[in-house]
Amino acid sequence: TPRVFSGIQPSGGLTLGNYLGAIKRFVTMQDEVAQSIYCMVDLHAITVWQDPKDLLHNTRELAAGFIASGISPEKSILINQSQVPEHAQLGWIFNCVARMGWMQRMTQFKDKAGKNAQNVSLGLFGYPALMAADILVYHATHVPVGEDQKQHLELTRDIAAKFNHDYGVDFFPMTEPVIEGAATRVMSLRDGCKKMSKSDPSDASRINMTDDADVISKKIRKAKTDPDGLPSDIDGLEGRPEARNLVNIFAALSERSVEDVLSEVGGQQFGTFKPLLADLAVAKLSPISGEMARLMDDPAEIDRILARGASQAREITAPILKKTYEIVGMVGPA
Ligand code: ATP
Ligand code: MG
Repeated sequence: TPRVFSGIQPSGGLTLGNYLGAIKRFVTMQDEVAQSIYCMVDLHAITVWQDPKDLLHNTRELAAGFIASGISPEKSILINQSQVPEHAQLGWIFNCVARMGWMQRMTQFKDKAGKNAQNVSLGLFGYPALMAADILVYHATHVPVGEDQKQHLELTRDIAAKFNHDYGVDFFPMTEPVIEGAATRVMSLRDGCKKMSKSDPSDASRINMTDDADVISKKIRKAKTDPDGLPSDIDGLEGRPEARNLVNIFAALSERSVEDVLSEVGGQQFGTFKPLLADLAVAKLSPISGEMARLMDDPAEIDRILARGASQAREITAPILKKTYEIVGMVGPA
């Protein structure tokens, strides 16, 4: 039976990229499959330095963002990674399955390490092995993610296959990525060739889910564009990454196809289009940010939801870890 898992790092506040590329799909998938697990991956977040106060705040705010966006703790299991210890335990086993050469090819590691590869944490290098464990400790079959995570999901399959092969078992499933829609890769508002990211040092590069209407409008007004107007078909977006990005965002927010949007706005100047986009973004995001703020007034309630999620999750993860230990030849959890 299909089982969905996905996670987001509390490494900052949620962005429009996280919402369109991941969370929106999480919400629809919780009604399509019997079981869905959505996770605040705090163990991943600390692969780069996080101020402890910020980490705690961002973890609760991310939970609030999930719930405010429509993920129901009654339909889905909502968890914080560090509260379900089997993730890290299986992660260690996978550190011993994954190969250095595989990890060295990961573009996210290369991007995040930059020129400083000797001085990043060992955790940042091992990130994809822990991510494989997050998924496989549930035997998840489907993982909705943005386009940037495709390579990590291929590695997850490589780890599952190598484990199954090395131990002569058919234990871990081959997980399918689910990468769909007009906004699987939302780009920075300052650079159409760079992904929008919550950890980008420039706040102007992204729309945060908690930005108010004025801030959203200002960021969109200042978003980088080229001097031409909008084309009336997709071919006209060729070689115009910034224009393409704004049109994709419009299409994803309004749940229309890019073709359909262009047939309406083709010919407009950005001076006309940007206010339309800003109004649409505010209309879609402000109910969510309002609800997030309301939920954040009661952090104890968020903690209760996460505690309940952790105990539901462990009913799945504990037997899978136990079986893994048996396969590997370990005495097993005490
Ligand atoms: P960080 O900068 O700390 O890596 P992030 O914004 O990339 O943060 P993640 O927590 O790494 O967010 O990713 C969470 C989910 O959001 C993943 O499924 C990822 O593919 C998706 N995602 C992240 N950025 C974008 C984007 N710009 N467009 C579409 N999906 C995105
Ligand atoms: Mg990321």
